[in-house]
Amino acid sequence: MEEQLPNWLKKRADITPARPAIEFEGITYSFKELNHMVEEMAGKLAAKGAERGNTCAILVRNHLDSVVMIHALFYIGVRIVMLNHKLTANELAWQIQDSQASILFSESYFTDTLKGIEREVSTVSVYIKEELVESVCPQVMADFYLEDTATIMYTSGTTGKPKGVMQTFGNHWWSAVGSALNLGLHEKDSWYCAVPIFHISGLSILMRSVIYGMKVVLVEKFDEEEANWHLRENGVTIISVVTSMLNRMLLNLGERNYPSSFRCMLLGGGPAPLSLLERCKEKDIPVFQTYGMTETASQIVTLTPEYSMEKIGSAGKALFPSQIRIEANGKQAKPNEAGEIVVFGPNVTKGYFNRVDATEQAIKAGWLYTGDIGYLDDEGFLYVLDRRSDLIISGGENVYPAEIESVLSAHPAVFEAGVTGVADEKWGQVPLAFVVLTEEVTEQQLLAYCREHLASYKMPREIVFCDHLPRNGANKLLRRKLKKEDGRG
Ligand code: ATP
Ligand code: MG
Repeated sequence: MEEQLPNWLKKRADITPARPAIEFEGITYSFKELNHMVEEMAGKLAAKGAERGNTCAILVRNHLDSVVMIHALFYIGVRIVMLNHKLTANELAWQIQDSQASILFSESYFTDTLKGIEREVSTVSVYIKEELVESVCPQVMADFYLEDTATIMYTSGTTGKPKGVMQTFGNHWWSAVGSALNLGLHEKDSWYCAVPIFHISGLSILMRSVIYGMKVVLVEKFDEEEANWHLRENGVTIISVVTSMLNRMLLNLGERNYPSSFRCMLLGGGPAPLSLLERCKEKDIPVFQTYGMTETASQIVTLTPEYSMEKIGSAGKALFPSQIRIEANGKQAKPNEAGEIVVFGPNVTKGYFNRVDATEQAIKAGWLYTGDIGYLDDEGFLYVLDRRSDLIISGGENVYPAEIESVLSAHPAVFEAGVTGVADEKWGQVPLAFVVLTEEVTEQQLLAYCREHLASYKMPREIVFCDHLPRNGANKLLRRKLKKEDGRG
């Protein structure tokens, strides 16, 4: 028999109707109100032909209506393709075709993009939320089947063409449970969501909200001043951030502090420079480094509170009940030996949609080969080094761009840094660094600083100054674009 759980939001609205569910643009809605809005929306979506078993794509911003739409599609029993609105019409058209979505729900804000999509894909019907008026009585899913695909979410495309990850209800459920078993649940918890809800970092907050009965404070776009206000004045207890967001929040915070009610700065999505973690430590900011990916429906490894200071720089241990191991040359690596990070657990995807080959390559006997390199220390704590594909091999030595970025970021004049490998006659490849500055400094000064902190084979050949680093829709550094823009890669 298939395993099932009662429809999460319905159950939540039944047991704790009055609890705050979501705050958006200064207004807070209870679970009862959210459920009501979702039921209404489900009727409107069903009137456009969305029905159980369909695949529908959504192209929406972080907005209350988008959250309502997501739950409404779950109510109807539709698989949702979460589109990243920072992509071009062309890229989106490809994802819509690849995922075989028959309907696209969006908003008038994206009119131009939608026209572009319609030109490319003739098989999809496009509707915008502003024009959803008619309603029918939908058949609402009383239960969610854990094996069913809830969402198809494309990977960020940091290393190549995005792949459609099938995330089941079971994956989302276990991801939320694993996180709660690590961070605990506090009655007054309120999770700030300034990360995109089309990405797993944002969507997982929405899932936790209905599963835990916890308030989400949702904002359309990240703004450091606003985020700091919510943490300091509006009772937010947890926030999900990536490095660049945290950097901006710290700059904005200045001499001020966060109140003790703020209990978790969940930092993931990419490598965290040690200097940033140390600055947080000095200011008593409770940073929890975490490691996860679209394929694991968010966090799979997170540092537990009691080790957050002692094991600074580590992403922690696998969340309950997931497992992790490191493989080097086809064998289990020894402690402190670097190799590929391989993970296993109920939040790991069953595979990439329509990509049998990629799935078989990535998942073996349930273990997901992440393509990331890391090591476990003597006590089993994970240290993520870098992506295998970004590894620079210089004169036979492994050079991790993240390490050089971390050193450069620690220089007071550097706001952020990005490093990529470029071809070199003598060494095969050498690192090339790109930096965004906060104050003036010369290339020679930065190179001298690197020389103090890095072995000579890790030294960047050159330092390129730029205004900003190329990032994707998930705000991740696109190292391969560093090459392209510079024209030397
Ligand atoms: P694509 O798979 O298309 O290249 P992506 O891997 O960036 O894109 P995501 O699933 O959004 O897509 O990101 C997951 C990746 O982010 C991880 O595989 C890892 O490379 C990186 N990452 C996540 N957390 C950390 C961390 N704590 N330290 C270092 N890297 C991390
Ligand atoms: Mg990936």
